Amino acid sequence: MSSNKASAKILGLISEDSSSWVVGTLVFSAGAVLTALLALANVELYQRQLRQRFELLASERVSRIEDRLQGQVRGLDSLRRFFVYSDEVSEDEFNGFAHPLLVYTQAYSWTPKVADAERESYEHRVREAGVTDYSVRELGPDSSLKVADTRPYYFPVRYTLSRSTLALPLGFDVNSEPVRRATLERALQSGDMAASSLMELVGLETENRKGVLLVAPVTARSHTTGAEAGPFQGFLLAVISLRKLMTEGLPATDEDNLAVGLEDITSAQAPQVLYGSAAKAAISDLQLTQTVDFAGRSYRLQVRPTAVFMTANPSGNDSVVVLGALLSFMLSALLYALISQRQRAVRLVEQRTVQLRQREQQLRSAHGQLRNVLDAATQVAIIATDLEGVITTFNIGAERMLGYSSAQVCGQLTLRQLHLSSELAEHVCELSQRYGRSIKTGEAMLVESVEEHGHQAHDWTLVRQDGSHLQVNMQVSPVLDEHDQWIGYLAVCLDITERKRVEEELRTMSVTDALTGVYNRRYFQERLQAELLRVDRHGGIFSVVMLDIDHFKCINDQLGHAVGDHVLQAICKRLCHRLRRSDVFCRLGGEEFMVLCPDTDGDQAFALASELWAALRAEPVDGVGRVTASFGIASWRKGEGGDALLLRADSGVYAAKMGGRDRIEPELP
Ligand code: GH3
Ligand code: MG
Ligand code: MG
Repeated sequence: MSSNKASAKILGLISEDSSSWVVGTLVFSAGAVLTALLALANVELYQRQLRQRFELLASERVSRIEDRLQGQVRGLDSLRRFFVYSDEVSEDEFNGFAHPLLVYTQAYSWTPKVADAERESYEHRVREAGVTDYSVRELGPDSSLKVADTRPYYFPVRYTLSRSTLALPLGFDVNSEPVRRATLERALQSGDMAASSLMELVGLETENRKGVLLVAPVTARSHTTGAEAGPFQGFLLAVISLRKLMTEGLPATDEDNLAVGLEDITSAQAPQVLYGSAAKAAISDLQLTQTVDFAGRSYRLQVRPTAVFMTANPSGNDSVVVLGALLSFMLSALLYALISQRQRAVRLVEQRTVQLRQREQQLRSAHGQLRNVLDAATQVAIIATDLEGVITTFNIGAERMLGYSSAQVCGQLTLRQLHLSSELAEHVCELSQRYGRSIKTGEAMLVESVEEHGHQAHDWTLVRQDGSHLQVNMQVSPVLDEHDQWIGYLAVCLDITERKRVEEELRTMSVTDALTGVYNRRYFQERLQAELLRVDRHGGIFSVVMLDIDHFKCINDQLGHAVGDHVLQAICKRLCHRLRRSDVFCRLGGEEFMVLCPDTDGDQAFALASELWAALRAEPVDGVGRVTASFGIASWRKGEGGDALLLRADSGVYAAKMGGRDRIEPELP
């Protein structure tokens, strides 16, 4: 048993002796470690994928912004060339050329160089051309335009094409304001385009006003060489709103997954923030920084992911952890349940085995005790049978009473084979009548117990092995198993031979007259009732002969009571010899006798009475002399009761006495 336990393994791995808690905890811990490793690997993979996705988006955004900045340069340059290669550009031509270029630019302006000496004639010319209120102007302290102060040169806005709906800042002298002037000077010095630092733009809506100016100097074409080497004519300006440049055509703030910042780092000491996305950057180490050159300035473009980006790219690690924890828990719970259930079952089996052994031991000892009891009951025959009546137990008492050994009957004979067959057949008939159905021979000794749910004892005659008979009182009861199912019968038999003998003796005494040895009045009454019943049921006849000894009192008186007794005995003896076997001779009391004669009519009764009368008086009684009697006869008449019949007989005796005694009175009508 122990070796089996040692080798038994649950799922081929876990010893049955292992604590279910320990196994469950170990499996859960292993699952947790595995989950943690998986989560780590997943985090790494996620970071890599996130970075790749961010870099893709960020570089696309950077190149888009770069492209837009370069687009400004290209657009302004093409406008500049248009001016260079045109002798005179009208306002319509300017508008026509500049219009398609207004993509991310807020406005294009043309500012010719006007010397102070030419200011008035210039203003006059422009007004003549249709701009009636035209004058060279500059920004006043309240940011409104006022007439410009005197300066050696002016660069007033002559043409301007704007996407804004506000009034055009025509006549605004770009040279009037220091930041713009510095930009113009840089452009002049380099002979190339120049971008301004961050400034408040003029003529735009408030939200678009922060931006930069991109200026391009326009030089007339040399008439001789055709190259751009002629006199300087003025500046073309591109007005760039940084908000528009950075956001136009891109996702709205709350949908943008990137936060973009633009700084002017031309001056390394004082970088200037040009633009910052409204969308805030999420907490992340992801970042893309790029330096962009724009018309003589250096910009630093910084791109970071927003919360939108982070939300759109979830790690999925939570589900890995939750799933791993859940699986670990389920697996450990499953193993816990499996092991504890199995251990419980094993424990239960062990307990049951112990209980069964104890039960078996108890049964064995109970069986032994029962056997001893059976064997000790030597005065009682105890016979057990199966449901078919085949004997299974035959105790010492049974062996002693019936002469068989247990081996000779157990499994060999049935209980009914021990019975006197004629008696059994008789009892079968009686039982069949009693229960109104056909009773089989095998059932006869059991049926009363079954039908009457009691332990009905019954007297039976059993046949010993040597063929002799044994009177027993047998009580048969059913044997039930633990589920109350019948499994056989138990017959307990007492030897009643002695009891029967005593009963018979008592019976004889109770119906016999002690003095004469003939039947007494009680027996006569019994037989009379039985005879009445018989003739009443089956028909037939019977008669009675009554006799009373004549002058018996005299015998007593003269010879003594003892002689009287002797006379009674002698007479009975004498009369008995004359009677048939079927006649019942009784002493009713004193010196009165009665003969009950079955199947006898009145004549036959008279004949019998005559015989008796003759026998009586044929010879004298010793020491007494002749003793006579008076006879009365009554034969039964249909419907007549016992008392009436006896009265008639008694009346006959009386009549005989009256008639002189020593005679037979013929039956009275
Ligand atoms: P009768 O002819 O009219 O019958 O006269 P009787 O004397 O026979 O009749 P009675 O009835 O006058 O007397 C019966 C007597 O029988 C009375 C009684 O003492 C006597 N007797 C009754 N029983 C016994 C008995 O058992 N033994 C003896 N010896 N005498 C008995
Ligand atoms: Mg009498
Ligand atoms: Mg008498």
